[in-house]
Amino acid sequence: MTQAERHIDKGDGTPETDWLPWLHAAGLPAVTAEALVPQGARAVVVAPHPDDEVLAVGGLLARLAAARREIAIIAVTDGTASHPGSSRWPAPELARIRPEEGRRALQGLGVSQGPMQLGLPDGGLQAQRTRLTDLLLCLLQPHDIVFTTWRLDGHPDHEATGAACSEAAARVGARVVEVPVWAWHWARPGDARMPWARARMLRLDAEASQRKRLATLAFESQLQRDPSTGAAPVLRASTVARAARPFEVLFT
Ligand SMILES: [Zn+2]
Repeated sequence: MTQAERHIDKGDGTPETDWLPWLHAAGLPAVTAEALVPQGARAVVVAPHPDDEVLAVGGLLARLAAARREIAIIAVTDGTASHPGSSRWPAPELARIRPEEGRRALQGLGVSQGPMQLGLPDGGLQAQRTRLTDLLLCLLQPHDIVFTTWRLDGHPDHEATGAACSEAAARVGARVVEVPVWAWHWARPGDARMPWARARMLRLDAEASQRKRLATLAFESQLQRDPSTGAAPVLRASTVARAARPFEVLFT
């Protein structure tokens, strides 16, 4: 599959009205948070941008926090490339507010510790993949379960992060679970480009669903139209709608 086949256009992508009936009928094997992260293991969520941890596994994090599992969040970039050319949200302002939004979102999920910030360049992770792998090698432990974006997710930073996590985890002896985030935009129900045989469905209870929905709203800079450039919100209506699903799909 070429990069062009994983294209993220400016539209809303494949709508939930297509995905939901198919996902409900697909019979993906179920998995629980406690089975994904057994007692004694640590969940490490590696997010390319502040908000990916919530969009990918916000519900899982809420469940794990309630089950008092050990959790670490690694923020690979500070998300400063979300508003190019903006005078409302220039990069230094984004560098200040995006990690703050991330901390608030995590608190809403019940995760007390903030993210560890690696400070790699937003939009530049393909070129920094070796550096990211080296940093992860210092941070990961053999009993970790690493949750990250799918290595073929369609966004270059997501793909670089997924690949670096897979490589570092293999060397350390940790396990990796990849999560599609942008793939829901470009893929279609039953899409042969998605690894459905590895897909597991984590059903969220009402509390975890609610916490994830509210945590998504913490990313205020990503949810508003930019008055200085006229750009639409970075988090599109379809992305917010996906964050309200009462389940998460993970590639184990
Ligand atoms: Zn992202």
